[in-house]
Amino acid sequence: MSTRIVVVGGGTAGARLAQRLPVTLLGEESHAPYNRVLLADVLAGRYAPEVTAVPGTREPARLGVRAVRIDRAARTVECADGSLVGYDRLVLATGSNPVLPPLRGLRGALPAGVHPFRTLDDCLELRSVVRPGVRAVVIGGGLLGVSAARALAALGAEVVLTQQGERLMERQLDVQASALLREHVESLGVEVHTECRVSGLRQRDGAVTAVELADGFVLDAQVVVLACGVRPRVALAREAGLDIATGIVVDDELRTSDPYIHAIGDCAEHGGRVYGLAGPALEQADVLADLLLSETATAGAPAPTDSGPRYTGTRALTRLTLGGAQPLDLAAFGEATARPGDDVVQLTDATRGAYRKVVVRGDRLVGGVLLGDLAAVGALARAWEGDEALPEAPLLHLLTHDGGS
Ligand SMILES: Cc1cc2nc3c(=O)[nH]c(=O)nc-3n(C[C@H](O)[C@H](O)[C@H](O)COP(=O)(O)OP(=O)(O)OC[C@H]3O[C@@H](n4cnc5c(N)ncnc54)[C@H](O)[C@@H]3O)c2cc1C
Repeated sequence: MSTRIVVVGGGTAGARLAQRLPVTLLGEESHAPYNRVLLADVLAGRYAPEVTAVPGTREPARLGVRAVRIDRAARTVECADGSLVGYDRLVLATGSNPVLPPLRGLRGALPAGVHPFRTLDDCLELRSVVRPGVRAVVIGGGLLGVSAARALAALGAEVVLTQQGERLMERQLDVQASALLREHVESLGVEVHTECRVSGLRQRDGAVTAVELADGFVLDAQVVVLACGVRPRVALAREAGLDIATGIVVDDELRTSDPYIHAIGDCAEHGGRVYGLAGPALEQADVLADLLLSETATAGAPAPTDSGPRYTGTRALTRLTLGGAQPLDLAAFGEATARPGDDVVQLTDATRGAYRKVVVRGDRLVGGVLLGDLAAVGALARAWEGDEALPEAPLLHLLTHDGGS
């Protein structure tokens, strides 16, 4: 008898697994699996939604179906439509939820005009309300907020981007790269406010009219985009009694505290880390596919073995997609800000808005950032992912050598 594998969540990780294995995929969204990373391009009108579709899954997915409860003893998943789906192995790939900031005026249902930016539906809804000249405020200056602000500007909106921290995309970029990114965003007509805390929303007749800042300033707004980060979506797992820290805790076999249940992607926490990025979600899905394939080949029980595929963490360089009319290429990895004693090599080309930097500690590459010019990305990715001692060559070659990529 074949192993029944059920996957909850048809996003980046779940869809990848379903491409590799015959599974029952339960996906809450009504759209066929798509590439979330391209949503800003859909919002900006650069791509039609169909362009983001990911290649087909081995079995047709059950779309528009939300899993609401796991019965671990009976090994069934209950769906919102009342159906029960039995499993031998369950994979949770439930992704993240947008964080809703604690704002005065933001309780219960979101006022009209206030939008999260996570799903294709969020994106299509936003597109339907944004017209040239509309006043839009984006709350959050991380990757998501910057992507949304650029897309809204491309649609002709008057955009204000508010960032609580000192600079844009501070998780990935160092001070100089953030400054260049800010220049780029401002050149698109976006007004950027850093160290700026939004404290409340004003609304009339159920629709947002303005955003209140902690310093008393008020920004008129007909559209507000919430881009304040994400939190792993763990409610289903928590109610089933699985171990949760920030995400659903998994071991090197991506197994939760129940040996019959795995978790991958944004909802999973491995080695104390929740990645929240597409690369690790795909790598986890690939490792789990190999693992489940080897298990089903031996018809084995889900007992850990000494050999076989393992997930040991993702050391991939993160490529960030800031698409739009004037795309900006960006890649970052490890520690982009040096510690005392580190060697730093840095090249800036202000005219072309390009910046490259690597941080080296001893004979190891520990981090870097490339913005505007990714010619060196292939060679750097290999050096970073391989974690090997750097060759004796002058360090500058790391930034000027494209390694044939
Ligand atoms: C606009 C945007 C831009 C991004 N850009 C980048 C980028 O440039 N680079 C990068 O590395 N990462 C980027 N990310 C992050 C990246 O998209 C995520 O890390 C990745 O999608 C995580 O994959 P996942 O499968 O874990 O979760 P998701 O892709 O979020 O998929 C989870 C799916 O599970 C479904 N689900 C949840 N609960 C249930 C349930 N109970 N029943 C049924 N279905 C359920 C959800 O509806 C969702 O479809 C971006 C994210 C967004 C929103």
